[in-house]
Amino acid sequence: MDPESLRLLIRRKLQDGRLPRDGIKKVWSSRSDGERCNGCDAILSKDQMLMEGVPMDLGRRLLQLHVRCFQVWDHERLAA
Ligand SMILES: [Zn+2]
Repeated sequence: MDPESLRLLIRRKLQDGRLPRDGIKKVWSSRSDGERCNGCDAILSKDQMLMEGVPMDLGRRLLQLHVRCFQVWDHERLAA
């Protein structure tokens, strides 16, 4: 996915609530085990790093993102 499409997709998910606007309590990264990215909806390959975050709103699921998607999400939620 090109950077502009990714940015628009993540912005749309912020608008409709699929991605949280209010940061995360805790974040860590690990090697992916084939999770699906909450940002671009692609499956992470096993050689990619996975960013996982505990949302402020504990009713939400754990956030799982590519490093790149995490950066876009973090930037877009602050810009929104
Ligand atoms: Zn992604």
